[in-house]
Amino acid sequence: MFPLPDVSTVRLCSLLLSIAFTAVFLVLWRGRGEDDHLLHWALSSALYTAVLLGFQLFTDTLPPWPGSLLFASLVGSNLLLISGARVFEGPRPFAAWMLLPLLGCALAYSAPFWLAAWGLPLPMPQAGRICGTLGLLAGVCLVGWVLLRGGGAGWRGRRIAGLAMLGYVPGYVVAILLEFDGAARLNAAALLPMLSDQLLLAVLYLGLLSMPGERAQQTLREAALRDPLTGAWNRAGLEAQRPGLVMAGAALILIDIDHFKSINDRHGHAAGDAVLASLAARAAALAAEQGGWLARLGGDEFVAVLPHASAEEGQLLARRMRGAVAAGGPGLPPYTVSLGLTMVAPGEAGLEHAMARADDRLYQAKALGRDQLAL
Ligand code: GH3
Ligand code: MG
Repeated sequence: MFPLPDVSTVRLCSLLLSIAFTAVFLVLWRGRGEDDHLLHWALSSALYTAVLLGFQLFTDTLPPWPGSLLFASLVGSNLLLISGARVFEGPRPFAAWMLLPLLGCALAYSAPFWLAAWGLPLPMPQAGRICGTLGLLAGVCLVGWVLLRGGGAGWRGRRIAGLAMLGYVPGYVVAILLEFDGAARLNAAALLPMLSDQLLLAVLYLGLLSMPGERAQQTLREAALRDPLTGAWNRAGLEAQRPGLVMAGAALILIDIDHFKSINDRHGHAAGDAVLASLAARAAALAAEQGGWLARLGGDEFVAVLPHASAEEGQLLARRMRGAVAAGGPGLPPYTVSLGLTMVAPGEAGLEHAMARADDRLYQAKALGRDQLAL
């Protein structure tokens, strides 16, 4: 249906695309200087542009040294995608293992030339191209696998980039097979990876570009569910956790600071904030030890939910929380808490009933003189 384009035309399309993405990465990086992963990706596409120009310069035969340099640079441009992804996730862009595919690919292209020069009857320059392409194939598999493997925020975009990278594999494999078929198919052998480029290059870069947005969205979503002062879940967070939390046998501990208003009045609002943050940190750590969560219901009132706990375990945890508060903390005014404990009964669909029971018990604890647990 479509006439087969020549390699130079398709290469020009790749070149224009990679120039465009280099510009996009650079402009985005200039606007957000701290986002150095964009600089790595800009360098990657700029290097790829240079490699495409290099291949265009040596259309007929590629001598061993420029060839090694071009093949290694192509792997290098792929490795810069990984270094960018590494910067996106942490401080260290490069790892020692990255040298291996670089050197391996350079060696793969030049080795057949040396062997032929030493008298080995190799079909040159095909053998060089085949070995060099094998090196590229290994590099593409490695980079695709590393991108696919990564987790954390932005993993969807990273996975898209990894899949796009692995999408080059069939093109390289067929190109190698065609090389065995002799010089008549030479054009098709070079054309296939270039055609793959038209399909995959934009997908690869767009996958990478979507990573920061994905992370920002995740951070915002997380922030909307957390109380900024204490880091505990807020009511919306508790609601979001509900499906996993509300089950028969879950323990609910309502915690309220005693006479918190007077702590504010006597020691100031900042001291009150420090008390809230300290209580939340301790209670959340103790709840987490038993697979539970802490949410701030508002003001000085918190709820700890233990999805898998017996009544005894719930009591023990509530007592440990009281003990942790009694131990005080550096720079904190002394304070106490009252607690109300209840278990989610079988058949209770929502938290409301259990919450109301825990609230009654908390009220009892307050009425009985505070600084105690009511069951
Ligand atoms: P009780 O022993 O009955 O619980 O008495 P209380 O003083 O702890 O209870 P009350 O509900 O009267 O007071 C809660 C106070 O918590 C009132 C409000 O000013 C204060 N508060 C609410 N949110 C914050 C906050 O984020 N930081 C600080 N420092 N204080 C807060
Ligand atoms: Mg209170």
